[in-house]
Amino acid sequence: MDDNNYQILSQLRENVISKMRIFVDKNNERFFSDNELLQLSDIEVSFLSRNSISRHGLTTNLDKSKKLSPSNCKVKLNKKLFEEKYFLYAEFVLFHEYIHCLGNFSHDKNFRQLENLWPEKKQMNIIGRQLTRELQEIKAQWAWTCSKCGFVVKRSSRKFRSNYFHKECLGKLKNIPIIRPTSLEH
Ligand SMILES: [Zn+2]
Ligand SMILES: [Zn+2]
Repeated sequence: MDDNNYQILSQLRENVISKMRIFVDKNNERFFSDNELLQLSDIEVSFLSRNSISRHGLTTNLDKSKKLSPSNCKVKLNKKLFEEKYFLYAEFVLFHEYIHCLGNFSHDKNFRQLENLWPEKKQMNIIGRQLTRELQEIKAQWAWTCSKCGFVVKRSSRKFRSNYFHKECLGKLKNIPIIRPTSLEH
């Protein structure tokens, strides 16, 4: 990882952890202790590979035979989160992964309650859906469809000109994305 990426990721870590430090319940008790936050700050964070392009973030056990914990996990984030328009959302994704790191494996009620501590959670969901759509577009295959006879050619690139015709019947071809459902967030 080059210096620039390293800086971006450590800044993000710092931002998220300093927000987590101020989350308190109605008795003014903190949700995340200093010790937990210290452990979280030591977790390796890097970028997702192209194979997991449709995910926003992913937490995995380092040792698959042991339970998920701050000392037994690593976090990967989608590189697209570091485009300026997604920067605030990136904090939310890392927060989500940090909740997993603390041993909350599934998205159960307790998990969602912690997740809801994040400010502007609704806005985060909206931006999240926008990112999902963008990632789906990148992954989509394209179908050149003949408007006259219905003939379909699949293409992996969106490169297309509006004046393409089907050789056999001379119908005009249209370019339609084939969108597959993305894997669940985790
Ligand atoms: Zn045709
Ligand atoms: Zn998750």
